[in-house]
Amino acid sequence: MDDLAKAIKEKYQQTLDSIASAARSVSRDSDTVKLVVVTKTQPLEIVQAVVQAGAKILGENYPEEGVMKIQSLGFQSGVEWHQIGHVQSRKAKLIAEHFNFLHSLDSLKLAQKINHFATELNRSLPVLLEFNVGAELSKSGWDAAREEQWQDLFIEIDAVLDLPHLQVRGLMCMPPLDVDVEASRFYFQKLVRLRDVFAKRFSQKNTANWDELSMGTSADYEVAIQEGSTLVRVGTKIVGARQYNK
Ligand SMILES: *Cc1c(COP(=O)(O)O)cnc(C)c1O
Repeated sequence: MDDLAKAIKEKYQQTLDSIASAARSVSRDSDTVKLVVVTKTQPLEIVQAVVQAGAKILGENYPEEGVMKIQSLGFQSGVEWHQIGHVQSRKAKLIAEHFNFLHSLDSLKLAQKINHFATELNRSLPVLLEFNVGAELSKSGWDAAREEQWQDLFIEIDAVLDLPHLQVRGLMCMPPLDVDVEASRFYFQKLVRLRDVFAKRFSQKNTANWDELSMGTSADYEVAIQEGSTLVRVGTKIVGARQYNK
């Protein structure tokens, strides 16, 4: 193993250890937290090193870049590929065709497009619904900043739940970037409450379940785990700074 692969393996292991201790700190079983290693903008050699280190789930933001990586090493590696960033409608087919899981479903229109292509491909895609719990205009996700207005979301979410080739598995959020870890905790708690509202409201829809919560990045995954995250999305802490010019 070369130095790069060794360094990544060490950081990957450290991250798994800190995930386990964050889980222990709130008496959770560490098996209930899955680590998504975010490899967006990273070259193939880094992705390969991550797989060699033992990563089971890789997260990508840009569909074309993800597809290139999936085709280069996805089939032999036995890893799951998760799309975690905003998806433009015209990229819906790439998601339906190539990815194993979508964290960032953020509109009914996108849901319908992905469902359409998934139907053609005879696939069923597990998805999370993304919510903007922090009232930031720049963020994607259904607007869920004001709890008094959560019920206004029911009609659209109901329509998403009725799409036969999507399987809703839970919720995802990205807290505002400039806040500290304790402020992130507040947003994670809010997403958990929103999940509980949906689970109750849609308890009759037995094709959906609400078990997964995708919350936490390099900056705040330990706090996210304390608040119930089941999927943490960790990039820079394991693979270093993003490489936008490659
Ligand atoms: C890039 C990205 C991450 C990873 O962030 P790091 O700070 O590198 O851990 C997680 N989630 C989403 C949606 C991202 O776009």
